[in-house]
Amino acid sequence: MAELTFFYGTMNCGKSTLALQIHHNAVVAGKTCELLTKHDRGGGTISSRIGLAQPATVVAEGLDLFAYVAERIADGHTIDVLICDEAQFYTPEHVEQLADVVDQLGVDVQAFGLLTDFTTGLFPGSRRFLELADRRQELQVEARCWCGERGTLNARTVDGRIQREGEQVVVGDVDADLVAYEVLCRRHHRAGVTRAVADRPLEVVELSA
Ligand SMILES: [Zn+2]
Repeated sequence: MAELTFFYGTMNCGKSTLALQIHHNAVVAGKTCELLTKHDRGGGTISSRIGLAQPATVVAEGLDLFAYVAERIADGHTIDVLICDEAQFYTPEHVEQLADVVDQLGVDVQAFGLLTDFTTGLFPGSRRFLELADRRQELQVEARCWCGERGTLNARTVDGRIQREGEQVVVGDVDADLVAYEVLCRRHHRAGVTRAVADRPLEVVELSA
């Protein structure tokens, strides 16, 4: 039976590396894989920080994923496994379409994404994956906060300062170059102590004085 699996973790926890590893293993086993991604700055590539990369189809906002996969199969393509990277950016409708891909087309779907955004709330797509997946798997490669504790929350920073409000996804913003992301432990996320702030102890004293 085909299954819908959702692998999740923080940024920098090796999601794309695992996605590419699963792709490699499936290909070696003689299976046919298709790779999808969303909001990919590289323009259709799943790449990992350890240097692996594979071309991927970018999921457009209004794309019906069920219709897309059904058409590919009707056109004579074999699809055994669908690997979905950046799964947090998929809409809840995309996730439902992927569940139908599993149930009606018999294609395994393996999705990889973040659980929560920089405000610590669930991404809508990730919520739907949690609700519908046959298997939910937290990635065991853990990112660390600058303090050494387990990094469980994603922070958005501008010039090193933690951001509490803003769009869930920064796309094509003129200030996007100033925006950075950092994984923090809960204590430091709640306190807003990023690595940059921790490296500026005098400034912290000033602020709290
Ligand atoms: Zn910490």
